[in-house]
Amino acid sequence: MSQRAFLYNLQTIDNQIDKILDRITSIDKKISFNQEIVDSEKELKSIQASLDTKKREIGETESQSNLLSKKLKQNNDAMYAGKIKNPKELQSVEEESASLQKRIKVFDDKIFELMLESETIENQLMTHTQKHQQRLATKEREDQNLLLERHSVMEALEKLKIEKNPIEKQIKAELLQKYALLRETRNKLAVATVSEEACSACGNMITPAEIQKIKSPIDEYYCQICKRFLYHG
Ligand SMILES: [Zn+2]
Repeated sequence: MSQRAFLYNLQTIDNQIDKILDRITSIDKKISFNQEIVDSEKELKSIQASLDTKKREIGETESQSNLLSKKLKQNNDAMYAGKIKNPKELQSVEEESASLQKRIKVFDDKIFELMLESETIENQLMTHTQKHQQRLATKEREDQNLLLERHSVMEALEKLKIEKNPIEKQIKAELLQKYALLRETRNKLAVATVSEEACSACGNMITPAEIQKIKSPIDEYYCQICKRFLYHG
């Protein structure tokens, strides 16, 4: 086998290795980050925050209402106990009680409204929590499949590395360096083949005389245009 034949075989293996490495990177990325779940968590927190705000508002309104109810009770107790004798004072206490009742009603109406709003948010939270849990479960299943796939491509990778070793040993160090540089600078393709009398990488036409040279066992032969190794399979 010529040096270029070995290089061509090496490239075939390197391409498979690259494909596997890309897949592993993409698997790891998928496992570690999921935009859908990040968004879902954000949404969940925001619903929870608005529920907390609503509950706080209810609490504050209730304590305001309770304060007024206490005052009203004091007025009523005083009236029923007959402690207030002065008619003018009695009238003023009665007026105050009426005003208190009105204000309490306003607060109670507000509490009722807030309770309804809070219930709506609670329902949203429940629905969203369920959806979120479903998403998490789906991701877990997906992750398990991805981990299985990762395991099997890692095995394939190890096999390829074992396959690659003896081929590499057949190639001169200087050519391996050239090959590595070409792969780096020529879109991972260091060795092109002759296909329909042209370079398979750049399409440069190749004469029959050149093809003879390419078929010969000389170590190096490059495409004149793209400067890749040319190999005739
Ligand atoms: Zn070319």
